[in-house]
Amino acid sequence: MVRLMITPANGRGLVGLDRVYATYPTKADCVVLLERLRWQGNPQCPYCNSTRTSPMPKEDRHHCNNCSTAFSVTVNTAFHHTHLPLQKWFAVVSLVLKSRRSVSALSVGARGR
Ligand SMILES: [Zn+2]
Repeated sequence: MVRLMITPANGRGLVGLDRVYATYPTKADCVVLLERLRWQGNPQCPYCNSTRTSPMPKEDRHHCNNCSTAFSVTVNTAFHHTHLPLQKWFAVVSLVLKSRRSVSALSVGARGR
């Protein structure tokens, strides 16, 4: 799923940071993509699971009409509370996926815990 969002439409391999910025120039572009992947167009509150939400486009967030909490698509993901621009995260994920050796190393690390 992650590979989808960083692979160019022509499907020719994964992309570097410059290409990520070209494809997703703003944080809002990244948010739109993550929202589509996570919610398929139906935002769901991560705190109460309600889908009765209202968009807050200026903040790239949504308001839950059930529990009155504001939330973003990154809540409960690796991207939450990060100070790194989402484009850099996309590039990092791309690099990891690109190197099978790195993925193997991560898998081994995860198993060791
Ligand atoms: Zn809620």
